Amino acid sequence: MKKVILASDNAHKLEEFRRYFREAEIPLEIIPLRESGFSGDIVEDGATFEENALIKARTVSLATGCMAIADDSGLEVDALNGAPGVHSARYAGIHGDDAANNAKLLAELEGVPEEGRTARFVSAVCVFREDGEHLTVRGTAEGRILKEKQGSGTFGYDPLFYYPPFGKTFAELSGTEKNSVSHRGNALTLLMKKRDFFLK
Ligand code: IMP
Repeated sequence: MKKVILASDNAHKLEEFRRYFREAEIPLEIIPLRESGFSGDIVEDGATFEENALIKARTVSLATGCMAIADDSGLEVDALNGAPGVHSARYAGIHGDDAANNAKLLAELEGVPEEGRTARFVSAVCVFREDGEHLTVRGTAEGRILKEKQGSGTFGYDPLFYYPPFGKTFAELSGTEKNSVSHRGNALTLLMKKRDFFLK
């Protein structure tokens, strides 16, 4: 089977990608970054999700000679003028400290009523081929930030992100349910419409 390296060390993203590809019957084996032989640094200094997704996929593909796929994602909160945005992973200072990031988000939204707590998750997914050609898509998911966490077992801002059509937070959804409506799932669905780009 053709292989693609996922340019991420996030185990939750790996699980979501693998589930999506398996359930969509995409004949592509996803190699985790830590098993790819890649040992360099990725400097995510883009101003947009798309730029950062391209930086990650390009860096890993050029270093390994393999096709790479990357997701750059985050949360945009309307009452905070789109913050934390591309800084979502390190909103409270330490990369990937979900508890601190959620605590900061709740503090920043202190006193904001329910109707003012609208937000969206955004995911840019980039596929970078061995020949240097690349393709980037964007998916979003609209919801609202709760005043306290609900659910566990996933990552990031999921326990605070309430998704009205399901009446649950993203942390309360099964993996299949989350992929069916999430920003990353929506980006991957767009990508699948162009599957010839990475399957041929
Ligand atoms: P990245 O790994 O640099 O793209 O950073 C993504 C950050 O955005 C994560 O650390 C989370 O804080 C947040 N994020 C992205 N996608 C999700 C998701 O599906 N659920 C919860 N948080 C997410």
